[in-house]
Amino acid sequence: MSVAVVLFTSDLRLHDHPPLRAALSACERVVPLFVRDERIAAAGFDAPNRRAFLADCLRDLDAGLRARGGRLVVRSGDVTARLRQVAQETDAAEVHLAAGVSGYAQARERRLRAALERDGRALRVHDAVVTALAPGAVVPAGSDHFAVFTPYLRRWSHERIRDPLGAPRVVRVPDGLPSEEIPSRDQVDGVSEGLALGGEKEGRRLLGAWLRGGISRYEDLHDDLAGDATSRLSPHLHFGTVSAAELVHRARSASGPGPEAFVRQVCWRDFHHQVLAARPAAAADDYRARGDHWRAEDEAGDEIEAWRSGRTGYPVVDAAMRQLRHEGWMHNRARLLAASFLTKTLYVDWRIGARHFLDLLVDGDIANNQLNWQWVAGTGTDTRPNRVLNPVRQALRHDPDGAYVRRWVPELAGLEGPAVHQPWKLPAAERARYDYPEPVVDLAEGLARFTQARGAGARSAD
Ligand code: FAD
Repeated sequence: MSVAVVLFTSDLRLHDHPPLRAALSACERVVPLFVRDERIAAAGFDAPNRRAFLADCLRDLDAGLRARGGRLVVRSGDVTARLRQVAQETDAAEVHLAAGVSGYAQARERRLRAALERDGRALRVHDAVVTALAPGAVVPAGSDHFAVFTPYLRRWSHERIRDPLGAPRVVRVPDGLPSEEIPSRDQVDGVSEGLALGGEKEGRRLLGAWLRGGISRYEDLHDDLAGDATSRLSPHLHFGTVSAAELVHRARSASGPGPEAFVRQVCWRDFHHQVLAARPAAAADDYRARGDHWRAEDEAGDEIEAWRSGRTGYPVVDAAMRQLRHEGWMHNRARLLAASFLTKTLYVDWRIGARHFLDLLVDGDIANNQLNWQWVAGTGTDTRPNRVLNPVRQALRHDPDGAYVRRWVPELAGLEGPAVHQPWKLPAAERARYDYPEPVVDLAEGLARFTQARGAGARSAD
């Protein structure tokens, strides 16, 4: 009896799963394996919100496999040691794995390959499972990756995205293979109250509803903070419960400006993945150093704490930070303005903000988080690295009625309309009625500090 192992990582689904389909065609029995990797926990990357969402995903994956005659095998510890053990227990000839992009995923792949080859087993790595298009599938002349989004988008848009695969009907797993109990989200402490539900079933439900409804209005509404009119598919893309390739195919089959604008946003995800695959060090180091001498905890501790806890005195920034804590998710426009506020207005190191986001975001992702933070901080791929978002102008444009702020900053809920964005303009007696802090920084002073740091190019925009 021939056996293959499929090691699941960021691809926790049965639909459109090339490694699983390849393993099923090659061998009579397949072991769907997930290893709770101790190195990911040791790096502090298994934050409660993602651990809880992951538990949902594993349970749902197991249920989907059981409906097809199989089950999920879960082990914990060192991923190489556990995989070797399972391969030995089943005498598997081959192991299938989705290619990853981070430095960690690349090193893991090398370690797995070396260990399996020593045992006479093959590692088969599948591209374009985590992303719609494999990193490196398109490259500019003379480089190993695109450093600017627009030319990448142009090439990406003309490239063929592989056809999505259906879910297998039957998965036969070798008998008697031990598995740990699958974790459940109730066992995780410190989870955000409003955390979304994980799992492929939920991901596909959201995807279907999005394609039937929300996507058509995406172009007009995607920046409307109160409207909350984006897909919220990011955690499902992060854990792979929705396939990026299938998403692009299905979105493209809808017509109009909404789907086009949406697919462009999914292309940003592929873009950041191909940057990180080529430059894994950009997870921690400036992609394009600008000579910054960022402020950190020792110099700006109180301001950083005010930002983290949603008490900066800028209502739209505080609303954003409180949404993050409450849901483990934040609207993209809110992420942009909250990150610009920390890095450019407070001139605090982007790594401090990125770490806080990773501690809370359910979609917290090295490629998307670190490289978006760098984009905002001007050390990344933004072609206008010195622009500074003005939180008041952002608020008036993207939350014109103030409803987003009133939703997340209840102590200001008594302020009607756009007045909620500038409580410092209220007469002193009225202002005293609200238990809300004074602005932690003067915007003009923040801009002056940033201009001095970056040189004359810095200016306030939007
Ligand atoms: P939609 O607007 O519905 O977009 C669809 C999908 O496109 C998203 O699910 C996402 O996969 C992708 N996408 C959209 N915008 C971007 C973008 N700017 N960069 C890369 N992919 C994008 N996204 C993450 O998935 N994980 C992160 O850790 C993350 N951190 C971020 C940090 C900062 C400072 C900023 C500015 C953005 C970050 N983003 C991150 C990107 C973006 O904010 C989220 O992907 C988006 O808000 C998720 O909501 P949605 O699924 O409703 O998006």
